[in-house]
This record gives sequence, C-alpha cells and structure tokens, in this order.
Amino acid sequence: MTDYLDDKEDMIEENADSRQDDRNKDEYERFCFLCRRPESQTGKMIELPNNIHICSDCMQKSFDTMTTQMNNGKLNYSDLLNMPNISMIDLSNFQGTAPQPKKIKKKKAQEKPAIDLKKVPAPHKIKATLDDYVIGQEKAKKVMSVAVYNHYKRVAADAMDEIEIEKSNMLMIGPTGSGKTYLVKTLAKLLDVPLAIADATSLTEAGYIGDDIESVVSKLLAAADNDVEKAEHGIIFIDEIDKIAKKKNTNQRDVSGEAVQQGLLKLLEGSEVEVPVGANSKNAMVPMVTVNTRNILFICGGAFPDLESIIKERLNKQASIGFYADLKDKYDNDPHILEKVTVDDIRSFGMIPEFIGRLPVIFTLQGLTEDMLVQILKEPKNAILKQYQKLLALDEVKLEFEDGALRAIAAKAMEKKTGARALRAILEEYMLDIMYEIPKDDSIGQVIITREYIDGTGGPRILLRGQEVPLLCSAE
Ligand code: ADP
Repeated sequence: MTDYLDDKEDMIEENADSRQDDRNKDEYERFCFLCRRPESQTGKMIELPNNIHICSDCMQKSFDTMTTQMNNGKLNYSDLLNMPNISMIDLSNFQGTAPQPKKIKKKKAQEKPAIDLKKVPAPHKIKATLDDYVIGQEKAKKVMSVAVYNHYKRVAADAMDEIEIEKSNMLMIGPTGSGKTYLVKTLAKLLDVPLAIADATSLTEAGYIGDDIESVVSKLLAAADNDVEKAEHGIIFIDEIDKIAKKKNTNQRDVSGEAVQQGLLKLLEGSEVEVPVGANSKNAMVPMVTVNTRNILFICGGAFPDLESIIKERLNKQASIGFYADLKDKYDNDPHILEKVTVDDIRSFGMIPEFIGRLPVIFTLQGLTEDMLVQILKEPKNAILKQYQKLLALDEVKLEFEDGALRAIAAKAMEKKTGARALRAILEEYMLDIMYEIPKDDSIGQVIITREYIDGTGGPRILLRGQEVPLLCSAE
C-alpha cells in the first residue's frame, strides 16, 4: 500500500517537474491550497489539476495521516474512497472557483540588489542629471543630491558597524507648480527605484473614512511590482504635507491632521508594517506582506501658505529689538523670505516637533519667475516645445516659436499663479488649431508661432515647403 502511495507521489512529482519550465515563466507566487502559505515560504509546490497547488508539508501530512491509519489496520485503500468521516476533496468541485489569492511577485533568486552602492551616482552626477530636466532650484537640487546619495550609502552600510547613520528624509517647501513632484520623479527615475506619490489630504487615522496611513507603503509595493525587497529601497513622496498641520482651536479629535502626523512617525523612522497586497485596505481576503520602512526614503512636500508671514513676523520681531533695530517692513518684499525658514517656523505652522524631527533635511524651492518659465518651455530634455516639434516633425513640418511668443505664454502662465503647471494648458490651447489644420495640407513646411498669435492680434506664420526660413527661436 505504501508502495502504491510512493509511486503516486513520484508520479505527481514527475508531472510537476515536467511543468517546471512553464512555471519558470510564471513570475507570480503560488499559494498552498491547504495552508495558504506562499511558495517562497513553503518551497516547491506540487501542482494538481485546476490550478491547485499543495505544499510538500501539507502533502506529507496528509500521507502521514493515511499511512498511520493504514499501519494500525484502521484503514484500507478501498475504504479510503468511501470513508464516512474522511472527507476527500473532490477537486472538480473547485473548478473555476478555487479561491485564488492575489498574486504576489516572486522574489527572483539571483537578482541584482536593488541598490548597488557602487552604482549610486555621486552627488554632482545626480545634480547634473537633475539639471537636464529641472530649471532653476539650484539649492534644492544640490541638497537633494547629497541627501539621496547619503541615504543610499546608509542603506548599503546598513549592517557594517554600530555607528548608525541617520535617515535623510526630506521636507520640501515650495509654491505649487515649482517642481517638487517633478524633482522627486526625476530622481526616482535616475536612480531606478520605485516611487509612490501620495497625497496627505486623503490620509486619515485608521478607522476613519479615508486612506490608512499605511496605504502609502501599499502604493510603493504596487510601484515595485509587489517585490518587497525592491519596495524597501524605494521613495515615498507625500505631497500636500502642509494640509495635515495641527488644526488650531479645535476641541474635536483631529483625525486628518495631528493624528496623521502621529501615525506617520513610525513609518518615517522605520518600522515593520503589514500591508495588503494589491489593495488599499486590509481585509480577510487580501494577502498581507510585511514591509520594513527603515530604508525607504520619505520626501514630504508642501506649499505651506502663510509660512512666509510666520517667518516675517519672527524676523520683524528680532529686527525690532535692541540698538540695531531695523526698519519694520524690511522683510515685507523679500523674495527669498522662504529660504529663511527655521524648524520653529514650521512648528508654528502646525507641524508637531516629533514629525519635523524625523525630516532632518529641510529645504525650499523658489517660486518660478517669467524667465524661468520661458526656460522651462524650451530647455529641459523633454521640454514641452520639443515635444510639439517632434510631433510635427513626424509630418515633416518644422515648428518654431518667436521669442516674443514664448514670453507672452510665460506671462499668461504667471497670471494663473500655478507655476509651470499652467504652461502646458496654455500651449495646448494655441496648438490645438495648428495640430488640427496642418496635417490637412501637405504643402506646408514650417509653422512659426508669433507673439501676435498668442496675444490674439494675429495668426501664426505658415510657410510652404521650400520657403522655410532659418530658425528664429527653437528649443535648445
Ligand atoms: P509641484 O511643485 O506643485 O509638485 P510639479 O512638480 O508637479 O509641481 O510641476 C508641474 C509640472 O511643471 C511638472 O510636471 C514639470 O513639467 C513642470 N515644472 C515645474 N517646475 C519645473 C522646473 N523647475 N523645471 C522644469 N519643469 C518644471
């Protein structure tokens, strides 16, 4: 009898082996049908029909139970099939209904480490790449390059000795549309690490309507294709962080302000969190994995409106004391006032000290000027103008912009007070007709966007093939 079972086991294993190749192609984890553990924990699984997998432990346990009973003379094989108190699983019952746990990506055996210290570029190289994409914000780019370099050095040095290097989580303060998100996105792309962008306004204390604080880690896991190791070296950007400032004069529980800051503390510092895979909320049907946030780089960003007046008030107070008292309105028109921010100002704004303490790298971004907007239109590697030029080049039409036209677009964008974000919308409005009309006429060789066209007092210059004029202004 035991022989028979052994043979059967061999057969099952042989079948499983023959499917090994197919399995290698499958990059998702499988779960044991009985104990629900993933294959990464249980080791190789035995594959049964209907996409059911059993781990070797569970399989062995079942065989052991049967063999013990048989050896004790309690069970014959023929009895097995019609034993009243042993319920044999009829696999066909589960056809198509076998509960399939959400897929978790397998850890690939010999994959290269997520961060290779030798490959983390030196700060000046990180900054040089940021320069290719982000206009201005020199200080921010420099601070970020150093912080990121140090962070990943720390990650690599992790277990080397007992001197623990502090985490370089960052707090970015800058007006809307000044490039905060863009900087982080560029950084993550250049480092080739997963990035999750979360909005602090949607976060609430667990149990209240809104996203759990830990959902930010879920997002990162999703960005890392459910690869826990990769996620643990990723970047989480929490935007609109100023919106979770402590509410002033409130007697109610501050579930979306101070409580969120409190909740974020342990994530920022580094802790193990259980997060659902492939979902934002925890529930019984969603498999969970543990992610350690120790090496995740957190970058918080916000516009912090009114922070300027807090800084001004502090500076004015300082300046008006003593013999060298300054003019009272000295700081009123200082465009660089935000750069003078201190931890105390941020605390007065409503961030709790423990929270600020966990973001040791604090820096500001400046509001974009009209000149910067013109540069943003044409200079970055993927500048908007270059994108339109490429689109039209596919129709073999040259697109150029007069300098005056770029200035006019920038001036319009300044009026909207949403930083560089307004540029695309404005340009899109003017380019719509052009993109619509040009492909109609094969004889057109060049389009020049004039200042008059942007001002509404004229049209673009359209030149036929063979009559093109030299560049007036093009993306550099
Ligand atoms: P925010 O500071 O509000 O996060 P974003 O980073 O989302 O602003 O900026 C919106 C868009 O404006 C970006 O996608 C980017 O194309 C452009 N942009 C903003 N600032 C810059 C900059 N300094 N250099 C180049 N492009 C920029």
